[in-house]
Amino acid sequence: MRVTHRPHCVVIGAGIVGSSCAWHLVRKGARVTLVDSEHPGQGVSSGNAGCICKSSVFPFSHPGAIRKVPGWLLNPHGPMRISWSHFLPSLPWLYLFWRAGNANRVEEIISAQVTLMNSVIDDYDDILAETGGEAWRKSHGMILLYDTQKDFARDAWKYESRERLGIPWQKLSQDELAALEPGIHLGEGVAVFEPEWQHLVDPGAATRWIADAAFKRGASWLHDRVRTVSANATGVSLVTESGRSLQADQLVIAAGVWSNEMIGQLGYKVPLISKRGYHTMIGKPSLEIHHPIMSATRHVLLTPMRAGLRVSGTAEFAGLDTKPDYRRAKSLMQNARYYAPDLGGEEITEWMGQRPMLPDSLPVLGPLPGQQNVLCAFGHGHYGLTQGPTTGRIISKLVFGEDPGIDLSPFSISRFCKQPEASSQ
Ligand SMILES: Cc1cc2nc3c(=O)[nH]c(=O)nc-3n(C[C@H](O)[C@H](O)[C@H](O)COP(=O)(O)OP(=O)(O)OC[C@H]3O[C@@H](n4cnc5c(N)ncnc54)[C@H](O)[C@@H]3O)c2cc1C
Repeated sequence: MRVTHRPHCVVIGAGIVGSSCAWHLVRKGARVTLVDSEHPGQGVSSGNAGCICKSSVFPFSHPGAIRKVPGWLLNPHGPMRISWSHFLPSLPWLYLFWRAGNANRVEEIISAQVTLMNSVIDDYDDILAETGGEAWRKSHGMILLYDTQKDFARDAWKYESRERLGIPWQKLSQDELAALEPGIHLGEGVAVFEPEWQHLVDPGAATRWIADAAFKRGASWLHDRVRTVSANATGVSLVTESGRSLQADQLVIAAGVWSNEMIGQLGYKVPLISKRGYHTMIGKPSLEIHHPIMSATRHVLLTPMRAGLRVSGTAEFAGLDTKPDYRRAKSLMQNARYYAPDLGGEEITEWMGQRPMLPDSLPVLGPLPGQQNVLCAFGHGHYGLTQGPTTGRIISKLVFGEDPGIDLSPFSISRFCKQPEASSQ
């Protein structure tokens, strides 16, 4: 049913997802309160690799993926680490991850991911054009590196899918790679160019830009932590850490890795974990890089940014409150030096952030089945920066009772949990 009045929406979380929701909602005429205990764009939305990776439609779990895990864990510079104290708690999630990786399910996940990814560039065009934020974005494509022909052959299924889905890519000769990136040496490996990739030169600042644009249009900012949420057929109520009470028509939960704390109070729980990633930022790099460059073999991504060169990656399972282990950031540098042995420079900083990750690599989008006035917008894992503006548009359409334009059933929370009886409306 179309909503004709001006609903009041509270959005919890001012990362790229919540900030984009706030902007879209206020543009459509909602009254919006954006709440976060941090300033907009400070968490994982700031330190990521900055890429708008339209072609990344493949789930991390796929046939054979789980068999690679022991080798990764045994390699101190490998792409994955599970802290010993977190090994047992990770097992149920890894089981669901393995279950999501059968061939039929992988096809379903790819199809669903494509429906979201199809519009990510248009949605960035829209939000950046309307806010005057085009300078945050570059459209340089991305170079993907494989150390050996064998590594490339292992990903053949992804290239077959890309062909089928019409996702453009091309192999680069050694000369073509050298012309694009003279500082990168690949030996006998394979380089692929993906023209549709774009990147943001400062993802944290771009997120703040979007949140500020929402405030300029009239959204309110509440710098506080939401402690309790409740909902009934007529609206939602929240209480914050500082004791503020909020009443609203709609609640949008965009609280990243902390989203279970919110939906838990409404009787739901999903297998959402923190998949921690790291970066090393080189303020004055010894090497000039012109495109995002990703190694499919070594799982490291180099992104040229406004403040220098960002070297990022890694998947660490260590729980929400464990201290960062910056050896992971140093391993990323070591892996990057395989392609650029002299990579270094001055003004080096290290960072850790928490990806909100679900086992099937899809986010949760849409209403809680028992509480239509509570909308979920979390769990975007590796692709939250890419899908933030698209998520914001979809959520704003749901609030106004409009067709979101895609089938949201693959993103429903009910794929993980049932509606609790007490919350039936
Ligand atoms: C190393 C690395 C590289 C990455 N590279 C890319 C990339 O190239 N492209 C891409 O698309 N994605 C990338 N990602 C993933 C991307 O960064 C995330 O998916 C995205 O930032 C998640 O955004 P979010 O808004 O959901 O969460 P967040 O940015 O974490 O925002 C959630 C917010 O909710 C707030 N919050 C939580 N609980 C409460 C509460 N109770 N009350 C008030 N506020 C609350 C938090 O303070 C936080 O600010 C990368 C991630 C990492 C770690």
